Amino acid sequence: MFVCGPTVYDYAHLGHARTYVVFDVLARYLRSTGMEVFYLQNITDVDDKIINRSRSEGSSYRELARRFEAEYLKDMRSLGIDSVSYYARATTHIPEIIDQIRRLVAHKAAYVTDTGVYFDIETFSYNGQLSGQDASKRKSRVNDVTKHNPADFVLWKSGEYGEYTWESPWGRGRPGWHIEDTTITEKYFGQQYDIHGGGLDLIFPHHEAEIAQMESLEGRHPMVRYWLHTGFLTIDGEKMSKSLHNSITIRDALSRWTKDNIRYFILLSHYRSPLQVTEKGIIQAGRALEHIRTISVRDNGINPEGREEFITAMESDLNTPMAMAAIQKLADSGDIEALKAFGEILGIDFIRNNSVPLTILQEIRSELRARKEFKLADMIRDRMVAGGIPITDPPLK
Ligand code: AMP
Repeated sequence: MFVCGPTVYDYAHLGHARTYVVFDVLARYLRSTGMEVFYLQNITDVDDKIINRSRSEGSSYRELARRFEAEYLKDMRSLGIDSVSYYARATTHIPEIIDQIRRLVAHKAAYVTDTGVYFDIETFSYNGQLSGQDASKRKSRVNDVTKHNPADFVLWKSGEYGEYTWESPWGRGRPGWHIEDTTITEKYFGQQYDIHGGGLDLIFPHHEAEIAQMESLEGRHPMVRYWLHTGFLTIDGEKMSKSLHNSITIRDALSRWTKDNIRYFILLSHYRSPLQVTEKGIIQAGRALEHIRTISVRDNGINPEGREEFITAMESDLNTPMAMAAIQKLADSGDIEALKAFGEILGIDFIRNNSVPLTILQEIRSELRARKEFKLADMIRDRMVAGGIPITDPPLK
């Protein structure tokens, strides 16, 4: 399984969390059925956005990209995302990228101009197989006068110098965006593989460009057996995105809500649907999760229907909202073993974890209340409740 990774020039936000939690659950689920899953993700560490930000910050591209890559990995760990087998950076695959472009030129699927190398969209007959649109009629982002057709896309940008440029047969420069992914997947999987994932915004042009590149090499079709695209996480009706300045970073969200609360909120919606994020929605999800934990104390043995319902839901195009309904039934009947096992797949602890820090916090609150320092005690309680940990205080003596 290959999932498009982030462009590392800023902190990851809840939109990223949505997409990567979904694929984390898919990998965990497939592994739980006994399949061997190699989950590959790329890291885009050479891109205009990185270059622009590093210029405005006065830092080096490399330093900026490495810094945000580390922050991204930290955020993923904080969200409990640990299923990725290998993260592959674009910049550590430059010789392979150059080799793939060279083969595309040799196959006459790409041509060279003064400004770089371009994919010739007219040579590829399966155009638009994902979006259902005729890609040759659409313009690509880079509009260069040297292109034969406005829909042709760049494979190598020549005539660029400085940090993050490399020597190539077409002059010093850097790779285009689409070619990094097909190079990385060809290296680790070969020209055909099982699953490719990413957000909805990547279908066109990115994923169609990937298909055109890979299938033009030796004509093997299809490049990928299953495509999965996540719907957007939106805020006030708009896609959450760094460029729209409406994003809530993962770390900000985690300072207010637990990772289980956030995962539960995300998984209550089907991955292909849009997901509107609101504070109320996250808090409600936290309460529902806490209710499951509150009733999941006594083990009443196996609930076969509940278990089957969970598996059927996961097998139905990863229908996590239906899986959550099954979790509710398993909690109602007290099938603790299933709650633990399915909790591992969803990356959520459904059994109350009376952890040491939680116990200490509760003890501190009791002490504060005994000293009549209610303001501080209430502040701790409110933060705990917002984080999905309900507190009901015993009456004061
Ligand atoms: P980017 O960092 O923009 O390259 O995005 C990395 C991945 O996160 C891609 O698969 C995007 O489609 C996905 N993504 C970005 N924003 C959102 C969002 N608001 N909702 C869902 N997925 C998103």
